This record gives sequence, structure tokens and C-alpha cells, in this order.
Amino acid sequence: MNSYLVIIVASLIVAWLLGILSNTMNTRALTPSLPEEFSDVFDAEKYRQSQAYTRASMRFASWNDTYTTAIVLLFIWGGGFHLLDQAVRALDLSALSTGLVYIGALALASGILNLPFETYHTFVLEKTFGFNTTSLGTFVMDRLKGLILTGVIGGVLVAAILLFFQKTGSYGWLYCWGFAVLFSLGLTYVAPTWILPLFNTFTPLKAGELRSALEAYAESAGFELTGIFVIDGSKRSTKSNAFFTGFGKRRRIALFDTLIKEMTTDEIVAVLAHEVGHAQLGHIKKRLFTGIVKTGAVFFLMSLFLDSHPLFDAFGIKQPSIYAGLVFFMLLYTPISLVMAVISNRMSRTHEYQADAFAASSTGHPDSLISALKKLSATNLSNLTPHPFTVWLEYSHPPVIDRIKALHSLRP
Ligand SMILES: [Zn+2]
Repeated sequence: MNSYLVIIVASLIVAWLLGILSNTMNTRALTPSLPEEFSDVFDAEKYRQSQAYTRASMRFASWNDTYTTAIVLLFIWGGGFHLLDQAVRALDLSALSTGLVYIGALALASGILNLPFETYHTFVLEKTFGFNTTSLGTFVMDRLKGLILTGVIGGVLVAAILLFFQKTGSYGWLYCWGFAVLFSLGLTYVAPTWILPLFNTFTPLKAGELRSALEAYAESAGFELTGIFVIDGSKRSTKSNAFFTGFGKRRRIALFDTLIKEMTTDEIVAVLAHEVGHAQLGHIKKRLFTGIVKTGAVFFLMSLFLDSHPLFDAFGIKQPSIYAGLVFFMLLYTPISLVMAVISNRMSRTHEYQADAFAASSTGHPDSLISALKKLSATNLSNLTPHPFTVWLEYSHPPVIDRIKALHSLRP
């Protein structure tokens, strides 16, 4: 048997097993008694709900993983990559168009195949627990806009990669790296004004107590804030959140309307302080830098496999091509990406503790952030007792209870 095929199939199965194991352990780790710390924001009924939500979400994730993995394995087993290649080649297009159609068809098929799960997630799972506020119209429009955006953005990126590898020989990976980095920086730059408004309405936060408090905090922390916006998160869900978009002079903070409705001014200032912490402590730059290095490494590795005949043999393809090589490399990359995700999650969890500590010290006390975190976990029915294995494998943020403990220890 072809050794590439063995590696790919084995790593797909291992990734699937790890997911199932994590979901099962996480479900078993649910404890019947509410952690004392949360007794002011959860009552017995709310705690029961949050556990039921975790159980349902874990079951959903396991089924979704199983379905996706089964489809990929069946497609490999049935010679799908080879059959699609023949069908696309029969269209007799240029080399570039052939590649775009091949990758586009795979991406479109995977999007369509996952649609039943997305629909169930929004209209059954999230609805059952009272989170969903997405109308059918919004859901359909989101999918259409997503499709067009992916088509345009993904199309440009894939076309550039195919052309660079085709025209620039062994330096192709360097050109791809440079292009991908500039392209993604450009996207981050235009996202707040061109992309995000396609999905949500951003309204400048009106003058008043909250705005003054946020501006006063930003000034005291020496942080230049170009805009404070309210985003209509309630259009899709009752869950709440806050995030930064853009960078440099276009940096703005977006607060979910659901967050503003629930939290006090002090709590929202603490949430902003946490986000400011990420910027002031250099987390955003670090993340950007590791992202750039990782992209370079991926393209370099990719260049080593693009004309590896055994890799094409693994999928029954006799006529190697850059586009098919790209797809097969991504499959071969599965185990590395799993390891990378674990490492980057660990880094991210460390950053979260640091940003929390920054918020506590720059606002003068940890209490507002503690109550903000508690309210967030109550509104979002967060799992209060995740299994350490799940945290290690999947969590980009530490469990809320650990963050709160760390914050308590900072109290002067
Ligand atoms: Zn954070």
C-alpha cells in the first residue's frame, strides 16, 4: 500500500478519534454540583441548562466530525479525486482555470455537504437552548454572501498560488509566501469597512456614560482608539462578545449589543481593558509574526511535495498537477496542523491570563473583569468544568474558573 495514503488515512482517523475522545471525556467531566464561585450568576435550573447544552453540543460535534471524516474517506476510497480530475480535464480549459475549477468544485461540494449540519446547529441546537435569533432570510443571505466572498478571496489566493508555482519554479513558495502575507494583511486592513459590514451593522456608540468611561480608560492606558462601535449581534444570537478589528489607525472595538444590554459600565471597561492588554503586551504582533512564519513553512513544505509522484499515485492520479498536489498536500498536512493547533492554543491561553492581569492592574482591581466573565459564562451557558484533555486539545481560552482564580490571586 502507498505510504502517503497510509499516513493520510491514519491521520484522518486519529484526528477523528481524538475529537470523539475529547467530546466524550468532556461530557463525563460534567459535575452535578455548581462550582461555588458561580452561585451568584447561575441557579440550579440555569446550571442544569448549561450542562444539557454542553452535552448536546458535544454530541453534535461528534456526529459532525464522524460525518465529515466518513465523507472524506469514502471520497478517497471511491477514487473521487481522480474521477473529478478527469471530469475537469475533459472541459479542456487553460491550466489555471482547470486548477480553479478543480479546487472550487471540492470547496463547493464540502460547503453543500455540511449545510444540513449548519442548519441543524442554528435552527435546532441553538434554538432549543434559546440562543438562536437568526431568521431564515438572514441564514440564507449569510450563506450566499459567504459563498461569494470565499469565491472571490479564495479564488484570488488559489489563482496566485497556482501561477507562482507554475511560473517561478523552485522559488514558487517564496512568491506564494510573500503574496499570501500581503494579501491577508490587506484583508485585515479592509475587513472593518468592506467585509464585516456585509454581515453586521456597525453603529458608533452614542455619547454618554459608557462612551466617556471607555474613552477615559483608553486614554489612561495610553491606547489610541479610533472607534467604538456597537454591532447588532442580536440579529443572530443572544450570546454576547466583544472584539477588535483592523489594525494601526483603523483599529476599532466592536461591542455586541447583547453585551451592552447585560453588563455594567465597569464590566464593559474591564472587557475593553482585556482587549487593550492583548495589544499593549504585544500579543497581536506575536500572533501576526508566528502566523507569517507558519505560512512560509507551509508553502516551503508544500513545494517539496508538489511533484512527488507517489503522492499522486496514492489517489490514483497518473498526470500530476499543481492544483491536485495542493489538495493532497493539505491532506498530508493534517497531523502537523493538529500539533500546530495544540501549540498555538497553549500560547493563546497564556496570553489570555496575561491580558486578564493587564486588565486587573490597569483598571485598579480584578472585580469588574471577574463579574464580566461570570456574566458571559451565564449568558453563553459556558461549560464551567471542561475536561483538561479538551482544554489541552481545543481551548484557545483557559476555562473561566481558572481565569477567575488567577484574577482573585491578583487582588491587592
Ligand atoms: Zn483575550
